[in-house]
Amino acid sequence: MLRLILLGPPGAGKGTQAARICQKYSIPHISTGDIFRKHIKEGTEFGKKAKEYMNKGQLVPDDLVVEIAEARLIEEDCIHGFLLDGYPRTVVQAEKLDKFLSERNVSIDKVLDIKVDKEELMTRLIGRRVCRCCGATYHVINMPPEKEGICDVCTGELYQRSDDTAATVENRIEVYNALTVPLIEYYDKVGKVAHIDGSRKLDTVSSDIDAAIGDRE
Ligand code: AMP
Repeated sequence: MLRLILLGPPGAGKGTQAARICQKYSIPHISTGDIFRKHIKEGTEFGKKAKEYMNKGQLVPDDLVVEIAEARLIEEDCIHGFLLDGYPRTVVQAEKLDKFLSERNVSIDKVLDIKVDKEELMTRLIGRRVCRCCGATYHVINMPPEKEGICDVCTGELYQRSDDTAATVENRIEVYNALTVPLIEYYDKVGKVAHIDGSRKLDTVSSDIDAAIGDRE
């Protein structure tokens, strides 16, 4: 039984770490950002609304997000745990999540707070490329694919997320500092936060995460 929240600014490496954690601990990866991108791709009503906010680097309004997140959390695969990546992102969402979990007599085990400084985040995000087919991520300079524009894993086409442009990235980092950083204090008060330095090598960050997960009460 493992219920985790992954916090960290855009570009902190949450997606990469999430994939590894979920495989290692056999829990589903719940990324509200991924769910929203799927809605946009499928052209749903929700997707149309979400897109307006996402492309500006703003948060999707709490009521919409909470509805989508709770609908996902009641699915059967979440009974024995989950990793929330990108949710909650505001104190209101965290309060709603607490209520949702306590009504089911469960709670969050650990909040992993990955920190990376702004300059590094900008470099990582603006150079990020994602595979359209399998979601694998690359970096044009730090981790280029073997063939430009082609995924090493599945030969899918690589693209730049529409919210990974310089102006939007800057805004997303500001939104994170203003609205999501207060969550760290919210969870710190109940002693659930593990602070992780995300600027180091991937494996080092992973080891710290495993130690923090092993350390839960
Ligand atoms: P991500 O893939 O987590 O970086 O999310 C991409 C975008 O989706 C964010 O910049 C927000 O516009 C939106 N989003 C994802 N999760 C949330 C959330 N929990 N609350 C509000 N907006 C969200």
